Amino acid sequence: MTQPLLQHTSERLRERACELEARLDQLQAQGLKLDLTRGKPASDQLALSNELDGILGADYRLADGSDARNYGSLLGIPEARALGGELLDAPPECVIAGGNSSLSLMHLVLDTALRTGLWGAGSAWCEAAAAAGGRIKFLCPVPGYDRHFTICDALGIEMIAVPMNDAGPDMDAVEHHVSRDPLIKGIWCVPKYSNPTGCVYSDAVTARIATLPRQAGPNFLVMWDNAYAVHDLVIPAPRLRSLTPLLADAGTMENAVLFASTSKITFAGAGVAFLASGGGVITALEHAMSAMTIGPDKVNQLRHARFLDGRLEAHMQRHAALIRPKFDAVLERLEASLAPLQIADWTRPKGGYFISLNTLPGIAKCVVARARAAGVTLTPAGATYPGGHDPNDTNIRIAPTFPNLVDVEAATDILTLCIELESIEQILTRRGVH
Ligand code: PLP
Repeated sequence: MTQPLLQHTSERLRERACELEARLDQLQAQGLKLDLTRGKPASDQLALSNELDGILGADYRLADGSDARNYGSLLGIPEARALGGELLDAPPECVIAGGNSSLSLMHLVLDTALRTGLWGAGSAWCEAAAAAGGRIKFLCPVPGYDRHFTICDALGIEMIAVPMNDAGPDMDAVEHHVSRDPLIKGIWCVPKYSNPTGCVYSDAVTARIATLPRQAGPNFLVMWDNAYAVHDLVIPAPRLRSLTPLLADAGTMENAVLFASTSKITFAGAGVAFLASGGGVITALEHAMSAMTIGPDKVNQLRHARFLDGRLEAHMQRHAALIRPKFDAVLERLEASLAPLQIADWTRPKGGYFISLNTLPGIAKCVVARARAAGVTLTPAGATYPGGHDPNDTNIRIAPTFPNLVDVEAATDILTLCIELESIEQILTRRGVH
């Protein structure tokens, strides 16, 4: 079909639905098992870092002469803190290099802010909530990252959805909320190649985020999850304005924590995670961590520092060369099959791990269910919204990196079929034709 679906007669749409159903039945009979759910690196990407294994060659000495195999360095070894500083554009003394997961650092930060406070006596959010007789709240630009929402859920933090635009969160809505409710204590941000839309925050949005804590109630926290800081698919890559100088100018360094990790640089399950913040917050977190551990996996930190030293950019270009054809395959198929029909729109990210697609309102769940029946697993519709509830039932997150190219192509073909079929059914139902 080459015209907008809405312009077709009901008769023609019924015929087309029969054709599509027959094709789907054929595909279903093949017993496919395709997976476009999680943003995981494929094994050829993981193999780019196999050199990590053995890179130390029994030399465990750090530049300061200490032994990486032993206990200690709660905040991470200097070499790894420098790497974190490079990723986050922050001074190494303001960086913590931790274990393999930035999500666990995010959980640590919010848990500490809630229970004991990050800014000294009386700063715990739970005290503010008790005094006001309410719950702590967080702003969540949507569509957003489901695991951020899971952390809030797990800690009993109420989530308030705010719209995500092409240049970042809708800052008018954000500022409106924070200026009216002092129990709103923070905001989630994925500033570069946002999960799932792929947008890069504009300079203006980044500047407004840096001053946000001044407009909010006390002890506000920007959770700046720069998970895709170096994950460019095109050169020249879009530039994200550095947050740290803006925080320094605004005097809000203690009200933001920046995160990154090597999960999608080296080994997703065996990398190094980082955070950066002001000195006071780092001290509060050091205290919280001292009750949990004597120190991180310093051997892995040293392996990463040696492996990535001076080659981060070249290494990320090798990732891009493997991922780009998969993104192109999805985008070409969406363009060819859906664009003429005018029944969906989608993002065209220049980096990161996701494409965000919006169907006609009210059918995303049915599309995902139909695709699953045909052998394609997608992230559950709604997962990109707090509580798993997309009020318009329209958003689907596509993660093309993990399957091989042939599977990505096959899965996208099935997805487009399902979108067209569900759209036709909705149009016919609205017309009162069954
Ligand atoms: N943050 C974002 C925005 C992500 O998309 C992901 C993974 O998909 C993560 C964090 C996970 O990071 P880590 O592996 O360091 O816990």
